[in-house]
Amino acid sequence: MHATRALAEADRLMVVCNSCRYCEGLCAVFPAMEMRRAFPDGDLNYLANLCHGCGACYDDCQFSPPHEFDVNVPKTLAQVRADSYKAYAWPPALSGLFDRNGLVVAVIAAASAAVFLVGFVALNDPAAVFGRNGRAVMAL
Ligand code: SF4
Ligand code: SF4
Repeated sequence: MHATRALAEADRLMVVCNSCRYCEGLCAVFPAMEMRRAFPDGDLNYLANLCHGCGACYDDCQFSPPHEFDVNVPKTLAQVRADSYKAYAWPPALSGLFDRNGLVVAVIAAASAAVFLVGFVALNDPAAVFGRNGRAVMAL
């Protein structure tokens, strides 16, 4: 019994691939897979994180869709990988951010650029950031 549907699908695919072994020279995933006869969740997470999603095994596979075996190793391992990032994220309360990583990255990038620009100006001309408005000073 696996923790997620993606892990169950990865288990099914690894059994098929372990019988086939056509892709054993493509990347680190297949030699590591061949050292195993069973695929518990921890091992599947490990194998998924060896995959860099190149897609070569999908292109080479004679069992990829529309074949009834429906072997799509890159897609399945990518899902297992994404689930593992959420499962092992620290602090756990922030793991949900992986679902909105585009928004999070955009906000962090914008905030970083703003802090850099304000900091740069403040270092070179503190009055431009912390000083009073020139007209207001003249009015006084
Ligand atoms: S991806 Fe396809 S061709 Fe490659 S080892 Fe698995 S079943 Fe065989
Ligand atoms: S997609 Fe992943 S498993 Fe398939 S050949 Fe590339 S690195 Fe290996």
